[in-house]
Amino acid sequence: MEFSSKLLEKAVNEMSQLPGIGKRTALRLVLHLLRQPGNQTIELADALRNMRSEIKFCKSCNNISDSELCEICKNPHRNEELICVVEDIRDVMAIENTSSFKGLYHVLGGKISPMDGIGPNDLNIQPLVEKVKQGKVKELIFALGSTMEGDTTNFYIYKQIQEFDITTSTIARGISVGNELEYTDEVTLGRSIINRIPFEVSLKS
Ligand SMILES: [Zn+2]
Repeated sequence: MEFSSKLLEKAVNEMSQLPGIGKRTALRLVLHLLRQPGNQTIELADALRNMRSEIKFCKSCNNISDSELCEICKNPHRNEELICVVEDIRDVMAIENTSSFKGLYHVLGGKISPMDGIGPNDLNIQPLVEKVKQGKVKELIFALGSTMEGDTTNFYIYKQIQEFDITTSTIARGISVGNELEYTDEVTLGRSIINRIPFEVSLKS
């Protein structure tokens, strides 16, 4: 792609680093921004810069947060004995949208995937095991989606906490194999949390 402006070229190159954005789409977006009133583009740039420099990860659940503890962990009406284990913030958002869950979350930041070189130590698993060890948690609900990586991750965590006095369950399999939680409709997802099944039962099926 030949550019008449180095500034334009730089903006297009940066934009095309985003997932799913090729050079052509990047050019279209950049030209769109160029046609907007100046302050709109500056507000976008400021929002991105502030997000990058100021955002935190909740020190309890690892969810993305503006403060040390996220709004969910801070809420005294949530049941801290019940923890839903999810992959990332998109799953937290999807489950929150169902209004069916009043416990807390634990965000792993991914799933175990040997193919991609992601092992248990690359994920936020140890802090979860520590929470269980402290004895405050009564039930863990695995909500990682029914992929092979999800199953592997569930089983790994299950093995780590098996010796403790805790119930483990998994969201009901109304969710088809390979579907990510964020694409599941709210009613189905809400129901699958309410009708969760003991993890041991899911191992036999
Ligand atoms: Zn939190």
